[in-house]
Amino acid sequence: MRFHIITIFPEMFDSYLKESILGRALKDKKISIKFYNPMDYCESKRRVDDRPYGGGPGMVLRPELFLKAFSKAFLAAQKFSSGPRFSGSLTPARPFRKSLTSSKIKIILFSPSGKKFDTAYAKKSAQKYTDIIMISGRYEGIDARVGKILKAEEISIGDYVLTGGELPAMVLIDSISRQIKGVLGKYESLEEERVSSSEVYTRPEILKYKNKNYRVPKVLLSGHRAKIEEWKKRK
Ligand code: SAH
Repeated sequence: MRFHIITIFPEMFDSYLKESILGRALKDKKISIKFYNPMDYCESKRRVDDRPYGGGPGMVLRPELFLKAFSKAFLAAQKFSSGPRFSGSLTPARPFRKSLTSSKIKIILFSPSGKKFDTAYAKKSAQKYTDIIMISGRYEGIDARVGKILKAEEISIGDYVLTGGELPAMVLIDSISRQIKGVLGKYESLEEERVSSSEVYTRPEILKYKNKNYRVPKVLLSGHRAKIEEWKKRK
């Protein structure tokens, strides 16, 4: 899976992605992550954001810069996937739209009012796409014409408003990546592939804390497979 992230703050991703399971997935080339910064297309004396039409507080991210960053991401994605090429124009012609529906490239734009992301969505995405382009907003958001032109799917990671789309992009990268074969140590680590429980225990068998003993549930020490599975189902 190749993730293409459009963000004005690519450095925010560094520490999270280089550690642990995702770090290993990147090294093993199970996933790749590329960044496209709209700031790179900003004219020298202008800002990446501008005042909102109709008034109101906050600033709106300028559409042209995000469309330019998107063209770059889409071209990179198409290099690997088959299908007609994107012309690079800001007003895509029909072949571009057609290629989006038939290709394995997904375009996601983050918004607190978008469709709610869940494991089923992550699983489907891992199977269906070779490239996922994610567009992260900041401030009051990105000029709405960007989502309309690109026919991007608006995705929310929950009913709360964050300061930007970078955490949502990391949430999607994390949860989609763990659905890709070989990313988790054992495929069976996926909750959906086995009976899992929200309560897990490791050594010591008896944990002493402030003069009290906290024991691991007996059934887990019994070695009785069927009973253990039954217990996990209940938890
Ligand atoms: N004024 C906007 C909020 C902008 S929040 C509104 O009311 O809709 C700034 C950016 O953070 C958004 O463009 C989006 O990319 C991201 N964001 C904030 N909360 C989010 C959430 N729950 N899910 C996904 N993206 C979110």
